Amino acid sequence: MNAPNKSGWKPEMTAAADGMHSGPRTVTGNRALMLEEPLIFELAGTDTTGVDLPEIEGGANRLGGMERTAPIGLPGLSEPETVRHYTRLSRQNYAIDLGLFPLGSCTMKHNPRLNEKVARMPGFADVHPLQPVSTVRGALEVINELAFWLIDLTGMHGVAMSPKAGAHGELCGILCIRAALEARGDPREVILVPESAHGTNPATAAFAGYRVENIPANADGRVDLEALKARLGPDVAAVMITNPNTCGLFERDMKAISDAVHAAGGFVYCDGANFNAIVGKVRPGDLGVDAMHINLHKTFSTPHGGGGPGSGPVVLSEALSPYGPLPFTARTADGVVHLVEEENAAEFDHTQAFGRMTAFHGQMGMFTRALAYILSHGADGLRQVAEDAVLNANYILRSVEDLLEAPFGKSGPCMHEALFSDAGFSEGLSTLDLAKSLVDEGYHPMTMYFPLVVHGAMLVEPTETESKAGLDQFIAALRSVAERARAGDASMKQAPYYAPRRRLDETLAARRPVLAWSDPDSA
Ligand SMILES: *Cc1c(COP(=O)(O)O)cnc(C)c1O
Repeated sequence: MNAPNKSGWKPEMTAAADGMHSGPRTVTGNRALMLEEPLIFELAGTDTTGVDLPEIEGGANRLGGMERTAPIGLPGLSEPETVRHYTRLSRQNYAIDLGLFPLGSCTMKHNPRLNEKVARMPGFADVHPLQPVSTVRGALEVINELAFWLIDLTGMHGVAMSPKAGAHGELCGILCIRAALEARGDPREVILVPESAHGTNPATAAFAGYRVENIPANADGRVDLEALKARLGPDVAAVMITNPNTCGLFERDMKAISDAVHAAGGFVYCDGANFNAIVGKVRPGDLGVDAMHINLHKTFSTPHGGGGPGSGPVVLSEALSPYGPLPFTARTADGVVHLVEEENAAEFDHTQAFGRMTAFHGQMGMFTRALAYILSHGADGLRQVAEDAVLNANYILRSVEDLLEAPFGKSGPCMHEALFSDAGFSEGLSTLDLAKSLVDEGYHPMTMYFPLVVHGAMLVEPTETESKAGLDQFIAALRSVAERARAGDASMKQAPYYAPRRRLDETLAARRPVLAWSDPDSA
C-alpha cells in the first residue's frame, strides 16, 4: 500500500470540480484499480534501506581513504516495493498494446510477437560485434538478406544498413551526397527542403554544413514544381522530399522533380519514413531518388517511441553507392556473406566510402524483427500492408470530414494518414482541447500542430493493423469530441478529467526541466 510517507506526500485528488468524476474520496488517492503513485524518493525517503546487511566485524579497510562518508542518498526500497513502484507507473502509460495509437508521422503499429520471439533467439540476441566473423555467419546472413529485401522493395542499387534511426539515415544519405559532389570537384552549399518537412530534414542539412532554403507548397498540399525548378542552380546540392509527404499526400510530380534536380547537377534525397503507405506499390528508385532512409521501426514494425531503439538503413542509387559507409555485408559468388571493413574494402571495390556512421553494424535486434516481419508477410502481404494502411486512413478521413475540416480533403484520397485542422472549432477552443478530450475517451492523442503548414493541425495515422470495429469506435470518439469543439463545449478546456494527472505546464516543463530530486526536508 502506498500510504503518504514522512516527506508529506499527499495523493492528488482527481475528482473534477464540476463533479464529472465524482464519487467517494478515497484515503489512498487510489481509484479502484487506478493507483496513485508518488516519486520513488517520496515513497521511500533516503534514510531507510531495503536490505539488511550485518555490520562488518574486523577485516582491514582496503579502500585507501576512498570510502564513502556521507549517506548514499538513494531511496531505500526493497525489491518488491521497487517492482510495484515501476509497475504502478507503467499502468499510467498508454501503449500500442493497449489500444489504437493514432500518432501521424510516427507509425505506431502492432509488433507481431513472432518478431520478438525471433529477435530473442540466443544466436541473434547474444552475439557480440567483436566476435570472430566465422562465429556470426548467421547474423551476417540476416543483415544481408534484409539488405537484399530493402534494395528490391525500393528499386535501388545499394544500402547502408548501419544508421541507427531515420534522422541518422538522413545524415548518412547527405554525407554520401557530399562525398559524391566533392569527388567531382563540385561542392555546393544549399539544400532545398519543403515547408511541410519533418524537422529532422532541415536539421540534418544544417548539421552537415549546408544552408537550408524552403520550397513552397501549392494549394493542394504538394511541392510547387515550378517554384522548385526556378530555384535550382549550380549552388543546390540536393533537395530533401518526403514522399508520401507529411500532409499525407503522394508527391505525384516526384519523377519530374528528380529529372529537374538531376539536370541541374543536384541529388534527390527522399525521406522514406512514410514508406509503409507505398511498400510493394511504388519503387522510389523508379522515381529518380538517390538516397532514402527507411525507418525499420515504422514501416516494418519493431517497437519504438520510448519502447526501443530505431533503425534507419539508407538505400542508395548507383551514383551514390560507391560512397556508402563501412562496414557492410556482401555475398560473393561462392554464396558466403562477408563483412566489408576498412582492411578488405579494396577487395570489394569499395575504396571511396565517406567513413562510418557507427562503431559496428547497426541495430541487430531491429534487423531480425524487420526481416521476420517481411518474411512472414511476403511480397504480396507487404503490398496489402500499404493498401490496408491507406484504406484505413481514408476511412477515417471520410468518416469525420463533415465535422473536422480536412484542408486537403479535396486533393484526392490521402495516403497512410489523414490531416485535419481546427477551422470549424468554436471561438476559444483549440486542437489541444480536442486532444485532451480524446484522452478521456481512452485514446492517445493524434500528432498535433504538425505539419506546420496547417493551422491547428491534427495528423491521424491508424496503420493497417486496426480492425473496422476498432476504427469505428475511434471514429465515434473523434466525432464526439469534434462536435463538442464545434458547439463550444467550454468543459473541454479542463480536459482530461479521468487521467491520473490533468493539464501540466508543458512549456515550463520543456524550458525548465527539473531532472534531479532534492530533499525538501534538507532545504
Ligand atoms: C519519424 C520521422 C523522421 C525521423 O525518424 P527517426 O527514426 O525518429 O529519427 C523523419 N522524417 C519523417 C517524415 C518521420 O516521420
